[in-house]
Amino acid sequence: MAKLFSYFFKQNKPEIQKEEKSLALESCQKELKKLGALFQSMSQGLVFCNQDLQVERANPAFYQIFALSERLEGKAVLEVIREESLYSLLKKSLSEKKQLEKEIILHQAKPKRYFKIQAIPIEETGLSGVLGIFEDITRTKELEQSRQDFVANVSHELKTPLTSIRGYAETLLSSALERPETARRFVQKIHHHAQSLQKLIEELLDLSRLDAGRIQLKKEKIDLSELAQNCLKDFQEAFEAKKISLKSTPSPPLLVLGESSLIKQILFNLLQNALQYTPEGGEVELILKTEEGQALFEVKDNGIGISTKDLPHIFERFWRADKARSRDSGGTGLGLAIVKHLTQALGGELEVTSELGKGSTFSVSLPLA
Ligand code: ADP
Repeated sequence: MAKLFSYFFKQNKPEIQKEEKSLALESCQKELKKLGALFQSMSQGLVFCNQDLQVERANPAFYQIFALSERLEGKAVLEVIREESLYSLLKKSLSEKKQLEKEIILHQAKPKRYFKIQAIPIEETGLSGVLGIFEDITRTKELEQSRQDFVANVSHELKTPLTSIRGYAETLLSSALERPETARRFVQKIHHHAQSLQKLIEELLDLSRLDAGRIQLKKEKIDLSELAQNCLKDFQEAFEAKKISLKSTPSPPLLVLGESSLIKQILFNLLQNALQYTPEGGEVELILKTEEGQALFEVKDNGIGISTKDLPHIFERFWRADKARSRDSGGTGLGLAIVKHLTQALGGELEVTSELGKGSTFSVSLPLA
């Protein structure tokens, strides 16, 4: 690569271009054109600087990365990109005559981005300087970061119920076993935390299967009305216990294309949230209809609602408006992330409207059979 570029820059010098035209020169110019096109079209940013670290040439990708419009030729590179670490890298490569590589955050790139930068010294007759190659690695860095965050979150979420289980078990062993009432309470707590752990692990496995695309979609005709009624029956008791009225408008058969277990899980998670985030005496409604050639179901509650600040985050993994409250009631912060993935896998769309203190409506549209 460096050889190619040194050839390109050298040959492009006006004084050499003025040399006599011959057949050899013609073929040489053809090669130059090819190299020029390559230089112009490369997605990596390229900048060639002379021994004084002044820009001699930069390709369009370089201009684009830094949102530059003025001509850069002749300007000091540090004046163009005010990034000390980049300047030092180019300088070191020149003085040590060594190819160097470094990952740098360039705040000047719009928006701020991570780059892998290679500095390649070029020392040939008629051309001497350093070539900087800028490769945007922001996406890889972000993925790396989200993987690290995910592992940290999972560890934390596993640790919390485990610490409680251990604490209660230790107290039981040391003394509480002799006091049957206390022992019973503690065993109930252990049971509750063990259930949370199981739910968390099951949901993590679901997400990992969805991520890996390992969910085999059967795409069968399903009557959404019937499926919804069955799901509502499962929730009846829990809603009654919390004195929340659970309404559903009777709907004629509504055939959708999908897999019943996945649609059931979406509905289950949304109803579970409506139950969890609606205070006693509230109302939850399940609405089924067709709209714009799609089947639509809405889970509407008049519960605590979600603030406009929080709303964009609710489908993120482990995100919860109130961590302690959600965890206490067995929430994992994964339910809506799963709903989002499942809806996408079924070729549907998911929307939410919510107002703090007033309630939320989650709408899922699915392809009609
Ligand atoms: P969790 O297990 O915490 O319920 P979810 O992924 O299902 O996790 O939901 C993420 C967060 O979104 C919840 O912690 C809660 O803050 C908010 N949320 C979800 N559904 C509702 C709802 N119906 N009303 C109010 N807030 C909700």
